[in-house]
Amino acid sequence: MKRLSLLIGLVAIVATVGAKTPPEISDDRTVCGQLEKAVRRVISIPDIEGYKTLKCDFHMHTVFADAHVSPAGRVREAWQDGLDVIAMSEHIAVHKSPGIKLKDYNIPINQAVKEGKKWGFLVVPAVEITRTKPFGHMNALFIKDPNVFEETRYKVDENGKLLRDKDGNRIPNPTEMDDFRKAEEQGCFMLWNHPGWPDKKSTLYPLQKQLIKEGRIHAVELFNGSEWYPKVLDWFDEYKLPMMANSDIHDTSRFMYGNQIRPMTLVFAKEYTLESLREALFAGRMLAFFEGKLAGEQKYISQLIDASLKVQVVDEKKGVIVVTNISDIPFQTLFGERMIPVLFRPHSAIRITVPKGTELDFINCYVGRQTLKKEIW
Ligand SMILES: [Zn+2]
Ligand SMILES: [Zn+2]
Repeated sequence: MKRLSLLIGLVAIVATVGAKTPPEISDDRTVCGQLEKAVRRVISIPDIEGYKTLKCDFHMHTVFADAHVSPAGRVREAWQDGLDVIAMSEHIAVHKSPGIKLKDYNIPINQAVKEGKKWGFLVVPAVEITRTKPFGHMNALFIKDPNVFEETRYKVDENGKLLRDKDGNRIPNPTEMDDFRKAEEQGCFMLWNHPGWPDKKSTLYPLQKQLIKEGRIHAVELFNGSEWYPKVLDWFDEYKLPMMANSDIHDTSRFMYGNQIRPMTLVFAKEYTLESLREALFAGRMLAFFEGKLAGEQKYISQLIDASLKVQVVDEKKGVIVVTNISDIPFQTLFGERMIPVLFRPHSAIRITVPKGTELDFINCYVGRQTLKKEIW
């Protein structure tokens, strides 16, 4: 009887404690699914030896220029999509949103950084220097003062009215190299954006060739939004120019990518800090990851394969193995004289016969124009 009263007492205590935070249920207002809001997708891309693998998107836009989402919204989207880092890279000199004229480019950066702090999420301050080709568009990452750039892409008169040539065309404002130098003076990481846009031609102009040779362009987008530029692989072969995959997102991420994994640049950093990220970028420790493809330096792809594919030997003599892919990266391979296709699906295991020492051709892993060839046991 004593026990029963104790039990009743305990139940009463639990009920009282529980009653302190009752779910809001009434005919007037009932709260639904409150705990379901902040759900983050977990994308498994393993770390490699000595480095954390950071999932990054270094190119995106907001309502302050020509996009549909606020800077804080970009952070929330990216966090939910399973990324670790974004760059807030608003356009300089593109203002299409009616009623919003950005006078201070720190505004989107500060809003994103502030939101990032709430989620423990890194935001890289950046701007996109937006000009016509041959200069094109370049992101200046790790910008300190984003208000130093020329606002007008085209020449204007003293009243701000666009000047036109005799054929009625707008006249480009040739101050882009001044802007480039201003970014350099701030120690920025210079990313050459979407070389194949808007004219569908990935041209390596003498300007970029020179800047790449001088080590002043630090990376180029192999992938942007929903397109990729295979010619960039040639520049990797020739100049070892690091390659990125970024969204350049203007719409919502849901609208652009639905349930797919977003394009991302994988960066191998010592720590999850801006300083570490910066060091890793300037050291060129990155891979482009988009639509199931990986591109970049052989050693990083190779280490990622080793970290992703776990091999269990079932019959050494016959070469029977079970390979488990613990990552979200699909690895498509061909092997043997008959070029047998084998797909290592994300989060799946496959039992196959691959004799020891067999070289597999990882046909979705690009080291420049070549695909990566590698033994898995
Ligand atoms: Zn652009
Ligand atoms: Zn852009």
